[in-house]
Amino acid sequence: MSDRVPRLGDEIDDYCPRCRLLLNHDVTSLYNDQPAKVTCRTCHNTHDYRHAQVPTRRKSKEREKKTLLEQVMASMPKPPDPPPAPSAPARKRRDLWAEVERIKGQKKD
Ligand SMILES: [Zn+2]
Repeated sequence: MSDRVPRLGDEIDDYCPRCRLLLNHDVTSLYNDQPAKVTCRTCHNTHDYRHAQVPTRRKSKEREKKTLLEQVMASMPKPPDPPPAPSAPARKRRDLWAEVERIKGQKKD
């Protein structure tokens, strides 16, 4: 929420890969006025600042992929509604048999 420039030693929330939790960290390194490295206040592990992003696990990654696909699908124009099931094939078959009967009748004649 703060737009202020972080300083070394500032308390910052980040994901600790060792604790596997979103925890308080100290800013230990800055790059371009952004925290580059942070130290977990719980286990004192220093790691790259992860922008408080909890890494996604494999399972949720797959879910994310699906969501991405769904997003792509959603962004595409909707296909037109399929036409109502035609009754033509049945009629055609009947016509075909009628044709056969007709031909048979012609042969008889
Ligand atoms: Zn930690």
